[in-house]
Amino acid sequence: MSNKVAVLPGDGIGVEVIAETVKVLKVAKPDLEFEEALVGGAAYDDCGQPLPQSTLDLCRASDAVLLGAVGGPKWDKLPAQLRPEIGALLPLRAELELFANVRPAKVLRSLLNASPLKNTGGTIDLVVVRELTGGIYFGHRERQDNGNTAIDTCKYSRFEIERIAEVAISVARRRNHQITSVDKHNVLETSRLWREVVDEMAANNQDVKVTHMLVDNCAMQLIRDPLQFDVILTENMFGDILSDEASMLTGSLGLLPSASLGSSRNGRTFGLYEPVHGSAPDIAGQGRANPLAAILSGAMMLKYTFADDSGAERIEAAVDSVLEDGLRTADVFEKGSRLVTTSEIGDAIVAKLAG
Ligand code: NAD
Repeated sequence: MSNKVAVLPGDGIGVEVIAETVKVLKVAKPDLEFEEALVGGAAYDDCGQPLPQSTLDLCRASDAVLLGAVGGPKWDKLPAQLRPEIGALLPLRAELELFANVRPAKVLRSLLNASPLKNTGGTIDLVVVRELTGGIYFGHRERQDNGNTAIDTCKYSRFEIERIAEVAISVARRRNHQITSVDKHNVLETSRLWREVVDEMAANNQDVKVTHMLVDNCAMQLIRDPLQFDVILTENMFGDILSDEASMLTGSLGLLPSASLGSSRNGRTFGLYEPVHGSAPDIAGQGRANPLAAILSGAMMLKYTFADDSGAERIEAAVDSVLEDGLRTADVFEKGSRLVTTSEIGDAIVAKLAG
């Protein structure tokens, strides 16, 4: 079986954080093979396309994709289809058929002070599993009445609900076996189908406990009592909003990893792994970027694509340990800690793994 990873650093701090991630992955799992390609503004500058065919071909020939971030002021004035975010990210996700977005929100004990909910009396550790290719963002839309009436349609099929619920069940099995399925069942027909299908799947997977929650209540409960959640399973638009809300519970963009998963190929779950943050042009090239979100995305890659849970846990433990030692990049710096650069914190994680 191959262990091939397509590496797309992209633009701005994407390049810096991905360099650290590859360094860490090489030590954590020496049998991975990496091949790099251009994406985003860097690709546009090279060949006039933000997502060159050769980059897409490399992704298709790989088991997983590691992406930094794309975009920046240099390319903001280009026509929409050539802009890195629209011309690269959206087609990449669509072409690779990535239908599940998995975003953990975990407060690391050593960074508890960065969380706005630091007094909750426990540490937040939850995952949002969001359906990514269906629902209202992809439904028919139109204007009527001379442009004065607008229509968006929300559509879900049993197949789409089943496959995302399967992902949530497999994520829950790696954690505390609890799923909160979030919908608006009291109003929406798509939500009624959602609940019907999720209930059928729950009946066939009784090792995982499934409960239901209305989306408005979930938005409130995430703030009131985030410790009650293990895995939140939800549709596209609800997940867009709830995953951003959940991620801010941790306090820093530089710490948030994510995975977008597709179907299994050759017995492996294909996935694209990337930090939640963007290319941060304001700090690019200064060694100030926090690489932990990207490194933790690399740990997710080991877990979900390469089924190497112990490799993932070793990376997570090394990250925790380096933070416990007091090393901090500027975004999470606090008095008494030691300010380090992007590559210094990467080196420290490598040293923990090697030691
Ligand atoms: P951003 O996430 O790049 O930055 C927001 C703020 O957070 C900035 O002050 C930045 O310095 C800080 N920040 C972000 N990541 C950090 C890290 N790892 N370490 C330390 N500080 C960090 O969002 P933005 O400023 O709105 O967007 C900048 C560019 O990135 C835009 O071109 C945007 O379109 C693009 N973008 C790309 C992606 C992606 O590639 N997935 C996602 C979001 C934004």
